[in-house]
Amino acid sequence: MPIGGQKQSPVAHEAPSALVDGFELTAKWNRQYESRVIEDYDCGPLFDLAALPGAESIEWCFGCGKCVPVCPVDLVGEYGPRKLHRKLQLGTDLLDDPDLWLCTTCGNCLRVCPKLVDMTQIMPAAREAAIDQGRAVPDELQQALHATAKYGNVMGASPRRRSAWTKTAGVAVRDLQHEPGAVRYLLLVEDYWSYHPRGNDAARALARILHQLGLDYGILGAGERTLADSQRLAGEKGLFELMMEQLVPELERQDFEAIVTADPHALNALLKVYPEYGHRFTALHYTQLLAPLVDQLSFTTPLKTKVTFHDPCYLGRQNGEYEAPRRLLQAIPGLELVEMMRSRENSYCCGGGGGGMWLDAHVAGHTRERLAERRVREAAQTGADVLAVCCPYEVSRFEDAIKSTGLEGQLQVRDIAELLDAALGGAAAVAPETSAAVS
Ligand code: SF4
Ligand code: SF4
Repeated sequence: MPIGGQKQSPVAHEAPSALVDGFELTAKWNRQYESRVIEDYDCGPLFDLAALPGAESIEWCFGCGKCVPVCPVDLVGEYGPRKLHRKLQLGTDLLDDPDLWLCTTCGNCLRVCPKLVDMTQIMPAAREAAIDQGRAVPDELQQALHATAKYGNVMGASPRRRSAWTKTAGVAVRDLQHEPGAVRYLLLVEDYWSYHPRGNDAARALARILHQLGLDYGILGAGERTLADSQRLAGEKGLFELMMEQLVPELERQDFEAIVTADPHALNALLKVYPEYGHRFTALHYTQLLAPLVDQLSFTTPLKTKVTFHDPCYLGRQNGEYEAPRRLLQAIPGLELVEMMRSRENSYCCGGGGGGMWLDAHVAGHTRERLAERRVREAAQTGADVLAVCCPYEVSRFEDAIKSTGLEGQLQVRDIAELLDAALGGAAAVAPETSAAVS
């Protein structure tokens, strides 16, 4: 049966006895009370899903259930790989089921799964099939995909405004569209740091830090496009490829040693997905660039505050970086770092990955609590004053969650770049007319 139909499972009863290797085994002998009811399931939808390229591993599940307690969605709802597998066995068509849009591709289930059932591949494959077949796609996600296709960024903002944030950074930021030439580092700012007001704060903070370190870097300005890795995981591989076709020639036109990005999702695309298409770049998250250089920073303003850190799924679990952010936080004078119960490999998910950033209304309709709300409660339980982040999705997600959970006044959200910048004296510590040093 093609993915799409639900079939009533016929019900049968266990045979009263069976001859096995010449021995008669009776159901009565084997069961304490009565013979079992046996259901004959239609596994067609499960097999159809497993036939999609990338989704093969859904068939490998043997039902151990290890994945459910670590799935961040199950903690706030009724969803986990084992539960999904069971629904598929019972005839559910995932392509028409709300579960299709719940997985954030955080990767925590894969970490514990003995059979390597990989939801970070299964879900994008199923979503791509749903989009291709014209199945229902949540409105908010459709809008995000449309904006990405039209403007090259998910915010639907003008590409010409990409570098507007630099004007109030307090230091010059070299826009390679206007000041071409070789740089050591190419900073891919990505969408939320380019356009969101709170992302702009972190981008300006990083510019001031890079300035103090005297690093030679530039941005692509209007030439930048999103890497669209989350759009890929939301099922739009074609859109990912379209963005890649626009961005790669721009990258190849530039002369640089390494790409630095604030966005773990962009980093994931550069390190893991671009090579599949033959595009290889050296790429670093900004915390990885700064961590070995932190001793060169001249801190002037101790931050007497208790901070807890949220590991972004696509920096930590997906790309193995847990230490660089912590090293930066621990270098800030006065700052006390405390860990949440779920951290590092077992970090909770903010809910923004895998397209979740643009599925909040859908997820809210199928869970008891938003993932970001759950996470800010966990952060507050540590007694921290500040929740430190280093993924552009997280500041706005967690600030909204702090408002909706009534934690305003108790917990603040700051990007690590903002915390470093504050300890360095912030905008006041740099002369507005100073140009970014080029080494
Ligand atoms: S951990 Fe893997 S094998 Fe076990 S139930 Fe979950 S998906 Fe299936
Ligand atoms: S990838 Fe994360 S959200 Fe998706 S099923 Fe696995 S644990 Fe749950």
